[in-house]
Amino acid sequence: MPMPNIIAFDGPAASGKSTIAYQLSKSMGYLFFDTGVMYRAVTWKVLNDGVPVEDEAGVTRVAEEVLIEVQPASQDDNRTNDVLVNGQDVTWEIRKAEVEEHVSAVSAYPGVRKAMTAQQRRIGLAGKVIMVGRDIGTVVLPEADLKIFLEASVEERARRRYQELVDRGEKADLSEILEAMRRRDKVDSSRKVAPLRAAEDAVRINSDGLTIPEVLQKISSLIQP
Ligand code: C5P
Repeated sequence: MPMPNIIAFDGPAASGKSTIAYQLSKSMGYLFFDTGVMYRAVTWKVLNDGVPVEDEAGVTRVAEEVLIEVQPASQDDNRTNDVLVNGQDVTWEIRKAEVEEHVSAVSAYPGVRKAMTAQQRRIGLAGKVIMVGRDIGTVVLPEADLKIFLEASVEERARRRYQELVDRGEKADLSEILEAMRRRDKVDSSRKVAPLRAAEDAVRINSDGLTIPEVLQKISSLIQP
C-alpha cells in the first residue's frame, strides 16, 4: 500500500502495542500518540481530587475540565512522552496499580469517552500519526489508512507487564497482575460505548512468541511489500 497517513493501532492491555507503535513511529518520522495515557490521566485526577469513581457526573466533569498535555520526553528515563495534568508531570504516576485498578471503570463512562475522543480525532486528523488505543480503528479514526489489531494471550501479556514493573524496580506479583488484566480485559471488551474490538478492516497480528523486531517486520511488510 502507499505510505499510510493515519495508522490506527489497537489491542488489549500489554499486547505490546505502545512499544511497537513507538518504534514504528520513529522509523517513519510520524507522531506517536498513545490514547491510553489520556484515560489514565483522567483517572489519576479523579483519584487525586477524591472524586468517587462511581460518581459518573463528577468523573465526567473532571474529564471535561482537565487539561492533559502530551509532550516530547524531557527526561531520559524510558518514557516515550511527558504526560502533564494541569501542568503537573504525572508520567509515572499514571502507571501505578491504583490508576490501573480504576481506569476501565472511568473510561466506560460515555461522557468521558466523548471528551477524550474529540481531542484524539483533532490530533489524529492532522495526519502522519500512529494512534494507539482500544477504539481507534472503530470509533476515533475509522478513516485510518491502515488499522492494526495486536493480540497476545492474557498469560503472555501479564508476564510482560510483570517484567516491566520489575525492570522499573517496583514490587510486582504475577498472579495478581494476571487477575487484574483479566478484569480489565472484561470491562474494556464488554462496555457499551466503544468496546475493545478489532475493526472489520483491521489486520490482526498475534504477538505470542514473537519478538518486537519480528512484529515490526510483519507490519513493515504491510506498508512496503
Ligand atoms: O493502553 P493502556 O493500558 O494504557 O490503557 C489504559 C486503559 O484506558 C484501558 O484499560 C482502557 O480502559 C482505557 N482506554 C480506552 N480507550 C482507549 C485507550 C485506553 O478505553 N482508546
